[in-house]
Amino acid sequence: METESNRLHISFLPLPAQGHMIPMIDIAKAFATRGAKITVITSPAFAAIFSKQIERANQLGLEFHVQTVKFPSTEVGMPEGWENTDATAYSQNQPKFGEALSLLREPVLRILEKHRTDCLVTDFFFAWATDVAARLKIPRLVFGGTSIIAVCAEEVIARHQPHKGVSCDSETFLVPHLPGDIKLTRNQLPEHLRRLVENDFSKHAGEALESELKSFGSIFNSFYELEKDYADYYRNVLGRKAWHIGPVSLCNSDTADKVQRGKEASIGRHECLQWLDSKKPNSVVYVCFGSLTRFSSQQLSEIAKGLEASQQDFLWIVKGDKNQEQDWLPEGFEERMDGKGLIIRGWAPQLLILDHESIGGFVTHCGWNSTLESISAGVPMVTWPMFADQFYNEKLVVQVLGIGAGVGSNLFAVFAEGAKLVSRDDIDKAVRRVMAGEEAEVMRRRAKVIHEMARKAVAEGGSSDSDLTSLIEELKQHKAACESK
Ligand code: UDP
Repeated sequence: METESNRLHISFLPLPAQGHMIPMIDIAKAFATRGAKITVITSPAFAAIFSKQIERANQLGLEFHVQTVKFPSTEVGMPEGWENTDATAYSQNQPKFGEALSLLREPVLRILEKHRTDCLVTDFFFAWATDVAARLKIPRLVFGGTSIIAVCAEEVIARHQPHKGVSCDSETFLVPHLPGDIKLTRNQLPEHLRRLVENDFSKHAGEALESELKSFGSIFNSFYELEKDYADYYRNVLGRKAWHIGPVSLCNSDTADKVQRGKEASIGRHECLQWLDSKKPNSVVYVCFGSLTRFSSQQLSEIAKGLEASQQDFLWIVKGDKNQEQDWLPEGFEERMDGKGLIIRGWAPQLLILDHESIGGFVTHCGWNSTLESISAGVPMVTWPMFADQFYNEKLVVQVLGIGAGVGSNLFAVFAEGAKLVSRDDIDKAVRRVMAGEEAEVMRRRAKVIHEMARKAVAEGGSSDSDLTSLIEELKQHKAACESK
């Protein structure tokens, strides 16, 4: 039974990035729904972005508190507010970003000391977090925000270096020992792995992994049935401890919760729903590449031409700066597409869109959140991976689950900088494969089956629900053991 004395207080420290913070807030909600008191530690800029979501959680009777800590941008020689520029924070300035994350150690420790907490859940990239938790005699849980297949594949490649055996960067190699016959090319790997060199990113990631290995364990936003072989591999072969508690986005069943995730949406919910309601079931392809990817004008123009050629209705989210928006639309495109396509410039209410019955396919960069949100909604995918874990996620979607078709993106390019152009024909072909014809029907049926599995996993007694229960039990036992000492 829940009493004040055994009630858990859990502190969450997310990475200041939408793709990491959005699922972490959902994870926090899952714990809060089970009675835990939550403190989210973040920068003032990110606290502002997520304030409505947190307010709403409190209105729903959950207990959320926020502690802000200044992100040390100026301390590492960057302008004030730099952490909030999404894309620029990581790629060009990786060493500075890593340095800023290290500088957060002391202020976060002071917060944790002041507000007694029973467990610290942080993003993978806070390499100091296990030490800080040990000092406070509390467990540290790691959240990496990625799929289990990605973690396993990357670990296997790093250990066995199968890519050393191929003669060029575009020749495929098999990821050995891993189930699923996963084949990749060196071109699809991050630079440090491709060339087997150490760079700032791999150094930081190496320290973070060492810290993770000493931690209490890892939380995955995934569910056992989805990645069974990889979950078993992670546990039994890599010997690591994990709880799979997703898809956590499914805790957002109310329209207001689906709309309010991360940044303020650039389209009103009614306008968006009105447009979607006017379309037939499964007739619209949704096109969005997450929070970080920025395409060149040339690529945007190819996307427009590919979508037009596919003859499908579309809802396309375009990010980028205003100047860029002027020059890439093909002549007369908006007039020709009037009623057929809607372009939203800025931030989309993605969950609301994916859950709408008119959506028949999702052109995605295979960021793990987007991938899992699509799976949760039963929507097949046109896969267009570019960096991070995205190539592994594509393998899961296309090859293992059979619910997607790729555009043929095969070069690792952070935020799509320096990416190889994907032609309108390749976009057109992949969109048609997923949206129309027999193959599309087969994918759609499979996607619906997996969608049901996802719902069951988080429902009472499902695999994710049970994993969360056992994690909470372990944390309570740990708390009780500490208090009795
Ligand atoms: N997202 C959104 N609206 C947008 C773009 C992204 O709500 O216009 C959300 C999306 O639903 C997902 C997250 O932002 O939860 C993006 O995470 P993902 O792992 O897919 O990609 P990343 O942005 O980290 O590359």
